[in-house]
Amino acid sequence: MRPVVAVTAPTGRSDAGRERVALNVAYVHALERAGLLPLVVPTILDPAHAGDALPAARGLVLTGGEDVDPARYHAAPHPKLGAIDPRRDAGELALIAAARARRMPILAICRGIQILNVGAGGTLYQDLPSERPGPVDHRGEATRHGIRIESGSVAAQVFGGAANATVNSRHHQAVKELGAGLRATAWADDGVIEAAERADSGDPWLVAVQWHPEDLDEQALFRAFADAVR
Ligand code: MN
Repeated sequence: MRPVVAVTAPTGRSDAGRERVALNVAYVHALERAGLLPLVVPTILDPAHAGDALPAARGLVLTGGEDVDPARYHAAPHPKLGAIDPRRDAGELALIAAARARRMPILAICRGIQILNVGAGGTLYQDLPSERPGPVDHRGEATRHGIRIESGSVAAQVFGGAANATVNSRHHQAVKELGAGLRATAWADDGVIEAAERADSGDPWLVAVQWHPEDLDEQALFRAFADAVR
C-alpha cells in the first residue's frame, strides 16, 4: 500500500467561468514518482471540518498559489498585493494546525512556506520588488537564482550536501520574520529566505521551500518527504 498524503488544492475558473478545484498535475506526478498517493483536499472546505481529512493521510503537502491575506499577520494590504483567497487561507491554516497536532510530516512549497510561516506567527514581504528591492529577480516564468544552503539541513541533504545550488523562482512574496519553531536553511544571494525547517529536531519532519521542486523535477525532496511519512 502506498502512503496517502493530503495535498491542498486551490480553486480556479473553467472557460465557462465556473469555479473548480484545480491542482497542477506536476505535484501529482512528483508525489507519485516518490511512491506516494496524493489525496486532493480542496482548500475551500469548511475550516471546522478540513482537518477531518488528515486521519486518512500520513503527511500534508501545501502547494503554491495566491498571496496570503496580510490581515492574517496584522499588516495592511500593500498596493502590490496580488490576488488573495481568504477561504484558502482559513482552510490551509486549519489543515496546518491539524497536521501539527497529529505530528504529521509537512512539505510546503512556494505559497506553502508563506502560509506555514504565517500559521506559526511569522510575517511576509507582500511584494519583494517594492518592499525589498535587490539584485536577485525572484519573479518570472523562467527565472532561476542561486541559493546558499545551511550545512546539516534537510535542504543540504536534498542537494547532495552542496553548500550552493540553483533553483527556480516564481514568487513576489517571501518570509519576512520567521514564525515560532522554524529556522531558515536556505537563502537567495540577496538574503531572502528560500527554505525553512523545524527548529527543534524533536518536532515532526517539516521542510518548506520558496521554489517549485515539482517543476524542477527535484525528486530528492519528494523522496525525503516519502521517507518521513513511511
Ligand atoms: Mn526566489
